Amino acid sequence: MPDRIFNFSAGPGVMPEPVLKQAQHDLWNLFDTGIGICEHSHRGKAFDRVLAEAEQDCRDLAGIPKNYHILFVQGGASLQFAMLPMNFLHEGKTADYLNTGEWARRAVKEAQRFGKVNEAASSEAKNYTYIPAENERKYTRGGDAAYCHFTSNNTIFGTQFTEEPRIPSGVPLVCDASSDIFSKPIDVTKYAFIYAGAQKNLGPSGIVLLIVRDDFLQTAREDLTPMLSYKVHAKDGSRHNTPNTFGIYLVGQTFKWLKSFGGLRAMSEHNARKAKILYDHLDSTDFFRGTVEPKDRSQMNVTFRCRNEALEDTFVKEATAAGFDGLKGHRSVGGMRASMYNAFPIDGVRQFVEFMKNFERTHR
Ligand code: PMP
Repeated sequence: MPDRIFNFSAGPGVMPEPVLKQAQHDLWNLFDTGIGICEHSHRGKAFDRVLAEAEQDCRDLAGIPKNYHILFVQGGASLQFAMLPMNFLHEGKTADYLNTGEWARRAVKEAQRFGKVNEAASSEAKNYTYIPAENERKYTRGGDAAYCHFTSNNTIFGTQFTEEPRIPSGVPLVCDASSDIFSKPIDVTKYAFIYAGAQKNLGPSGIVLLIVRDDFLQTAREDLTPMLSYKVHAKDGSRHNTPNTFGIYLVGQTFKWLKSFGGLRAMSEHNARKAKILYDHLDSTDFFRGTVEPKDRSQMNVTFRCRNEALEDTFVKEATAAGFDGLKGHRSVGGMRASMYNAFPIDGVRQFVEFMKNFERTHR
């Protein structure tokens, strides 16, 4: 077995090799301090630099203006499902949610604990195989919603928004971008709030990136326990308590890698090329089939099945033996899912398609 194989895991997923190599060094000795990254105080000079660089590189990458806060918090994207309504779904208000997948559904459920939710659209009845079109979305009237929440990429079902929802003007747009953040350019100025768990495109689990517009932040509740208050995290610059220093370091290194790759435009072209190789192959044979409407296909998570579903266990087993890991689909879709996050190499997709062709030849 080679010491690295092709990792199609949906998350935690593949990380950039230069980041892992640098981390091996910096675990031992960061910036020639004689102390490793995990051993530095979160209030010392070395970590000040790690945090400041992570924030600046994030701003540079996505062109994020000064009126947005960049924060790092813990608790996974799942805690954001609750923190968001806790902070922003004020008494008497309604929040709009687009229910386009399992994570979106969980976000809805959490919001319902705290206030009124309007499911502006849902593809749940068709097992989330598509993104409801703009003319099927019923936003709260009068631009009166507290915010509108959507999930830009549906990790489990393999669908993705190709553009931001066109919501009534003045309503703050909120996005769970956990599984496609920085896979392509993003116009942050369209959003009031973006959150993303890091373990797909940005680094390890246990760290969440928040990008929050200041005027929206100012409307957050003040009376919350500090760890659940966005205002507190912003005031204390992501250091209200001891943050996940190693996680922030790894996300920062990933930002540097993305910059050296050529930025988000170059990354988006790279991801489009990868996805096209796999989707073109799926469309070229009747042995396999994609599970979602082609117009809504995700560039990150490609969900597919064998026409003969009885072959799927063998497919996954043989793929693993051939050095392609993490392909078993989520139980709610079945079949296979190939997740190809930013750090996944294009050569891995080419080799995987060759494997698929061979599999088809032997099992047709
Ligand atoms: N949102 C999306 C789009 C996800 O894919 C996931 C999980 N991978 C989550 C939220 C939940 O993330 P976490 O497990 O970090 O809470």
